[in-house]
Amino acid sequence: MALIQIIEDEPAQVELLSYNLEAEGFKIRQAMDGEEGLLQVQEDPPDLIILDWMLPEVPGVEVCRRLKAQSETKKIPIIMLTARGEEDDRVRGLNTGADDYIVKPFSVSEVVARVHALLRRTSAVLEEEVITYQDLSLNTEQHRVTRAGRHIKLSPTEYRLLLVLLAKPGKVWTREQLLDRVWGRDIFVDDRTVDVHIGRLRATLNKKEDKDLIRTVRGAGYSLDGEA
Ligand code: CA
Repeated sequence: MALIQIIEDEPAQVELLSYNLEAEGFKIRQAMDGEEGLLQVQEDPPDLIILDWMLPEVPGVEVCRRLKAQSETKKIPIIMLTARGEEDDRVRGLNTGADDYIVKPFSVSEVVARVHALLRRTSAVLEEEVITYQDLSLNTEQHRVTRAGRHIKLSPTEYRLLLVLLAKPGKVWTREQLLDRVWGRDIFVDDRTVDVHIGRLRATLNKKEDKDLIRTVRGAGYSLDGEA
């Protein structure tokens, strides 16, 4: 379930976008100004960002520039919203690294189509990817996981959990973030579920002689971290 971050200060626009993107099965998070948007994205990177040009606090173009300058956030696709007649701004928007732009007033179906197109482009790259971390390797196309060359059999849930952890080694994920990413918000599961599945993932990944790659951070959550 892809998470889309909307950074826009006009409630009517936010509501229109949220309503229609949720209907498409996306998860939506909103920020009403540039500063809040930056914080939310850095705290928990979304799959795509819809960013308005005109924003209080930090302007949209600056939000875009900052996100594209940081290695943790630069690959997140950004769609910039601009008002009609801001042609120069539009160009400047793209110069700052926005992946696409849409001129207001927009048709909702156009936004939805662009979102799908951008996500397809990004996930096409991801599909062929082999993600490695230390002696761990995950092939996203074959759904195969190996550790030091040894094949590891995971349940679909443990596989998704590992995929999330591998996306950001070292990042401490709260149980809530993991629930959100692995199970989705609509399914009722509690924090304990995360602990149970982390336990199973650990048991499957680690043979006696192996280093434990999952770090438990007391009062916070879990992290893929073999340095600890
Ligand atoms: Ca605005």
